[in-house]
Amino acid sequence: MRTSRYLLLIALLAGIAPGARSGPEESDVLFQASTLTALSAGVFDGSLTFRELREQGNFGLGTLNGLDGELVAVDGRFYQVNAEGRAALIPDGERTPFAVVKQFRPDRLVTVTQRVDFAGLGQLVDQAIPSRNIPYAVRITGRFASILARSVPRQTPPYPTLARALEQQRTFTFRDVEGTMVGFRMPAAMGSLNVAGYHFHFLTADRTSGGHVLACELQNVTVELDEAREFRMDLPHGESFDRAELGP
Ligand code: ZN
Repeated sequence: MRTSRYLLLIALLAGIAPGARSGPEESDVLFQASTLTALSAGVFDGSLTFRELREQGNFGLGTLNGLDGELVAVDGRFYQVNAEGRAALIPDGERTPFAVVKQFRPDRLVTVTQRVDFAGLGQLVDQAIPSRNIPYAVRITGRFASILARSVPRQTPPYPTLARALEQQRTFTFRDVEGTMVGFRMPAAMGSLNVAGYHFHFLTADRTSGGHVLACELQNVTVELDEAREFRMDLPHGESFDRAELGP
């Protein structure tokens, strides 16, 4: 893909990011509950409540205990997208086995006015970020030509692996839809902790449906990027995590 095909506007949002990043600040912290390796191994019950998760960020993604659908957090509201693709607010007392959140404070903006697919989106954002070795929160807002999303039905113990559970995934196609893609770009070096590269969950503008993004065609969207130089990880309390076989 050639950059010249796209109107690519990259702006430093001096008015939004509070000045130069002169030192550690809370808004730069990426917070994660558990690890991708543990989720992949079937550790589907975590100890962190959504009340606690909400204190760590207003933006993010993940899942709920029992792998009960997809989590999408935007503007401080935490939604569960169930296996039918419908979104509903998550009660504070529910818990998560895997989630990634951040206080979203964008420092870069990319305006996309041409059609790009998931791979093209990745290439555009890769050109806009100063380093591939830093995690970024990525918020994409606007009109999407199409989104292929999925969710999963709640699992019951003894839990299967994530790959086996995903055999039950259900997919939904949205066409010519307004909404928000909430996601992250993680460095390759963090690949056992989180999804290396791009990972997005989608929520429609009316906040009624969405899911984990499998494919997309962007049409007229704004991409906001928020660099995270600090990383905090909270590991689940409990036997299912402590006794899981997560490698040597
Ligand atoms: Zn996902």
